[in-house]
Amino acid sequence: MPGPIAFLLAGALALSPSSRAVATATDSVPRLVVLIVVDQFRPDELLRYRAEWTGGFKRILDQGVVFTHGQQDHAITETAPGHSTLLSGRFPAHTGIASNDLGAPDSLATVLGDPKAVGASPRRFLGTTLVDWLLARDSATRVLSVSRKDRGAILPIGRSVEQVYWWSNNGFFTTSRYYRDTLPDWVRQWNDRAPVQRLAGRSWTLLLPEAKYAEPDSLPAEQGPDGRVTFPHRLPTDLPAAGSQLTHFPWMDSLTLDLALEGVSSLGLGRRGPGRTDLLSVSLSTVDRIGHDYGPDSREMHDLLLRLDGYLGQFIDSLAAVVPTRETIFVLAADHGIQPIPEQSPPVAGPHPTRVWYGGAANFLARTLGPRWRVDFGIRFDGGLILADVDALRARGIRPDSLSAALALAADSEPYVAHVYTPRSLAAAPAADLTAARWRRTIPTGLGWLVAITARRGDIWDTYAYGANHGTPWQMDVEIPIVFWGDGLAPRTVARPVRSVDIAPTLARRLGIHPTEPVDGVPLPEVTRAPR
Ligand SMILES: [Zn+2]
Repeated sequence: MPGPIAFLLAGALALSPSSRAVATATDSVPRLVVLIVVDQFRPDELLRYRAEWTGGFKRILDQGVVFTHGQQDHAITETAPGHSTLLSGRFPAHTGIASNDLGAPDSLATVLGDPKAVGASPRRFLGTTLVDWLLARDSATRVLSVSRKDRGAILPIGRSVEQVYWWSNNGFFTTSRYYRDTLPDWVRQWNDRAPVQRLAGRSWTLLLPEAKYAEPDSLPAEQGPDGRVTFPHRLPTDLPAAGSQLTHFPWMDSLTLDLALEGVSSLGLGRRGPGRTDLLSVSLSTVDRIGHDYGPDSREMHDLLLRLDGYLGQFIDSLAAVVPTRETIFVLAADHGIQPIPEQSPPVAGPHPTRVWYGGAANFLARTLGPRWRVDFGIRFDGGLILADVDALRARGIRPDSLSAALALAADSEPYVAHVYTPRSLAAAPAADLTAARWRRTIPTGLGWLVAITARRGDIWDTYAYGANHGTPWQMDVEIPIVFWGDGLAPRTVARPVRSVDIAPTLARRLGIHPTEPVDGVPLPEVTRAPR
């Protein structure tokens, strides 16, 4: 009976703010919000080469409100939880995204044109983001999110079904069936330009004369995709290999930014007139890849950042030709920092940083308990947590508390373990225990776990013999730059610590909208009180 339903719907819509209500909002709100995420970026990396920036990083530092002590203030400093905090204003414990494995993977949401890829969606994401708050004011809000990684594209946006695209290792941008069943024309046409074919066989050489790079080209424990550790790095000529190895080359970020610009013009982002705000999120993944391969202090990282500075300069200029910078509010942030390669660490007092792993204990427990009780207890190691289906344990008469206590005792005897918590000891830890607080901000209610382990400062969870990693609650993994610019903001530098969860409430205040649920962050007065 469409009649009564249409009547009820009309009544319901009359109660909620429609897009017509936007006229009451101030006409001076920005037309576009742009979030730029550099995956794996510490503030000191942004500032280290400051004298060499000529492009985007120079403009960001010269024009922005620069928070030099931003933090992803939680324990499992991985890509998925980090991205989930940026526009939600909430810690992973509240977004439900505790780790990469507990992030975007979703076998029901198959990837268009890449049936072998792991499906991806925001189905585990709980609650709302700035996107939902914008939509509550204006249901015509346009949203685009682009990244090389599925989780980098999906998790800033939350659950809303938007234009969300990421890179397939088969050499094109795609999305999953959570969002749509076919790619739109503008993405297909972009893919038809065959970027991988154009780049195959090309070499990554130094941007500047070699004397400009203080770092040795080869340092201990580096490893590129083909085993090479020195310049030049060459993308294979054969296509499948070139498509998958492109993620290890700076051009990946250039392509990601190019697709974002194409989307901005195809979708008409920021062009709906005064008082109307659209949103663009771009997450750039190559710094993370190069950081893992060669470390954050490598010559490769220095050169990549110089190139990224150039790409971002072109991106900001191109965007300004569509939407004036004064009418755009930009944010630069990161999903986590990075630890140095342990083998490159200078001598320290006490044990030298090393690669550690506690997954063996979880595997042993799973192999011992599962067959004996003839059930899979889901016991596994993930980012320092030993996860388990605690209901299944109880159903077989095993007390999770006792198991946790025994595991904690065993973990504590490992020399590399700095802290170990059980659910009971974590709940009882004092507020001044910074590590415990970060774990509490990580673990969602209802997630079954037995122990949360933090390795010593400088040690990395790693099963490889090379490269760098992140993922711990220690400072170098937690630290990120947070910079706001555009929208008439005057430049300044702020040294007090702020958090990634402060970004969304700050943007909301600046846009004149309100979070539709409680958030963990607070509006940053250095940005919200600045005149427009
Ligand atoms: Zn990473």
